[in-house]
Amino acid sequence: MRLEGKSIIITGASSGIGAAAARIFAEEGASLVLSARRAALLEQLAAELRSAGAQALTLAGDVRQEDVAKRLVGLAEAEFGGLDGAFNNAGTVGDMGPVVDMSAETWSYVQDINLKAGFFGAKYQIPAMQRRGGGSIVFTSSFVGHTIGLPGMVAYASAKAGLVGMTQVLAAEHGGEGIRVNSLLPGGTRTEMAGDDPGTHAFVRNLHALKRMAEPEEIARAALFLLSDEASFVTGAAMLADGGNSICKT
Ligand code: NAD
Repeated sequence: MRLEGKSIIITGASSGIGAAAARIFAEEGASLVLSARRAALLEQLAAELRSAGAQALTLAGDVRQEDVAKRLVGLAEAEFGGLDGAFNNAGTVGDMGPVVDMSAETWSYVQDINLKAGFFGAKYQIPAMQRRGGGSIVFTSSFVGHTIGLPGMVAYASAKAGLVGMTQVLAAEHGGEGIRVNSLLPGGTRTEMAGDDPGTHAFVRNLHALKRMAEPEEIARAALFLLSDEASFVTGAAMLADGGNSICKT
């Protein structure tokens, strides 16, 4: 029970890595505040967790809205007495394409969901963790933009690399208060984001030393480590869980 007694927010909890994290964190004893836009999926997941004996609340909303970040923290404090952890995980690739064809709207949309939402999250999560006397924040970044430049992904790569910079500053600013901040960089993972095109999957599999994609649970377990006290001396890190795609040249 590595998260026993801990109250944790998960964004992007309706599918993929976020939903896998919700199930694993609940098994590890966490009390959860789950968020994403699809209310029905979220409530179905929370009901499943509650029927297994966990505490799980939902708040549907768009991470681009500052008020959603504020309300998530308010819910954790009101219902669970405080906030210990946040898995800021919602993300989107957006419309892909070369930079010369990219609209400002696409650029901003991708930055807002992947990067600005991290700022909104931190803005409200950090004061709550200060009130609690410490905590752990994890941002889901990506191998894209950190160890690999994939054509067509300029907006996504820039946003995910931005999270690594944000992580370093927040870790330095708040380490003395017992607040740890880390980025998690998954490799290619079998979720809705990765789609189901066999050709794309074969290409992505081959980028990795392990010659396969991750299951969402494998990434969620890395997030579990960062949110748990097992990672008590880990902060400011860009932690790869990338199946070796950063070192694979074959
Ligand atoms: P997914 O599409 O299954 O999950 C993305 C989640 O984010 C969903 O719950 C979705 O509803 C939510 N979301 C998207 N836009 C939102 C918004 N505006 N407001 C609120 N919620 C929103 O895909 P996933 O792979 O589980 O993605 C989780 C994270 O992992 C993302 O940040 C993604 O960029 C990152 N990531 C994924 C891969 C991969 O290969 N799948 C690789 C590296 C990083």
